[in-house]
Amino acid sequence: VIPLATARQFVLDGCAPLRPRQIPLDEALGCVSSEAIVAHEAVPAFANTAMDGYAVRAADTEGAPVRLSVVGTVAAGTAPSAALGPGQAMRIMTGAPIPPGCDAIVMVERTHTEGAEVIVEQPARPGDHLRLPGDDIAPGQEVFPPRTTLGPGHLGVVASLGHTSVAAYPQARVGVLSTGDELVEGGARLQPGQIRDSNRHTLLALLARSGCVPMDLGIAPDSEAAITSAVEAALPTCDAVVASGGVSMGDFDYVKVVLDRLSAGSMRWMQVAIRPAKPLAFGVIEGRPVFGLPGNPVSSMVSFELFARPGLRAMMGHDQLDRVHVEAVADESLRRRPDGKLHLARVIATPRSDGRFHLRSAGGQASHQLSAMALANALALLPDGEGIDAGECVTTMLLGEL
Ligand code: AMP
Ligand code: MG
Repeated sequence: VIPLATARQFVLDGCAPLRPRQIPLDEALGCVSSEAIVAHEAVPAFANTAMDGYAVRAADTEGAPVRLSVVGTVAAGTAPSAALGPGQAMRIMTGAPIPPGCDAIVMVERTHTEGAEVIVEQPARPGDHLRLPGDDIAPGQEVFPPRTTLGPGHLGVVASLGHTSVAAYPQARVGVLSTGDELVEGGARLQPGQIRDSNRHTLLALLARSGCVPMDLGIAPDSEAAITSAVEAALPTCDAVVASGGVSMGDFDYVKVVLDRLSAGSMRWMQVAIRPAKPLAFGVIEGRPVFGLPGNPVSSMVSFELFARPGLRAMMGHDQLDRVHVEAVADESLRRRPDGKLHLARVIATPRSDGRFHLRSAGGQASHQLSAMALANALALLPDGEGIDAGECVTTMLLGEL
């Protein structure tokens, strides 16, 4: 039995980053940039108005109210037809370039018109409501460093710089394989001993949530040949494979056998000092990480969180591999038995007005009780011992994005 940190490190050592490439902007959400994003142009590119109103010379508005003659209109997307002379104003719309001679904008709300003249009600100061070239982004500026996780705002910035793609680590394409003679798909009447495959659907969804491209590899029976051909068939199109089942001590647990053979012995079959999710097989086959997660539905989810998600994030260029951990307050006792292992209790964490997360159990804690795992939004890390009492604090892994 090995510590969680040792198993995690073994997995991470096998998860090299994918080769970065140019990714079209509208496919890059959530990807990690591989190079600094540098501006070659100023944003804004030209001085323009932040308000609908009148372009003026500030000096002309001293002693306002004053009367100026309106000599034109500048709409967004046009160039001013002439410069602004003394005593003149131009009607101007948000985003339109300011005419030469203008040094301030008066908002339309601070004016009224009389025929071809505008009455400016209050004096303007030079610079009022002007957006100057480069006051968002200057030419030559490094806007975002390498290894920035691209969110909606980043993509907008990249678009405003005129780029249609961005150098980034691609999403990992990850195959999901369920293994087990007992597994069936869909709503057919179950024969004795059969169960419905839930892990594949959970793991496909976890992968989608983790920013990967999930690929459904279906169900393989407990046969060495079938598991071998399912994994081999996946390798040309997948960057990684996540299998569930077949890594325990059972007589028909062939996943670890297959991974050992296909990974040329690089596979390690581990007994991790955690509960749930003790067994884990991990190896690299033809450069592709293959995770053999335990079959129990809760165990496969927990194992995914502890090992597969960090490994896949490393492949996708992330620096932050792990979920956020907080010190949370137990609102009820969380009991466990001493067994030398770290227990990951399925809990519901609720933020309260004291600024802390408060925990209560999400329900049954056995490794087949998927409904409690489904309700949980966090895992309380209960160290070896009897558990904790109500009011005590415990390190807790939040399962949501922050
Ligand atoms: P195994 O890891 O293959 O020994 O399986 C452990 C337990 O998980 C058994 O009760 C299996 O029936 C169950 N199990 C394995 N794979 C799945 C799956 N894909 N969906 C639901 N339960 C599963
Ligand atoms: Mg099995």
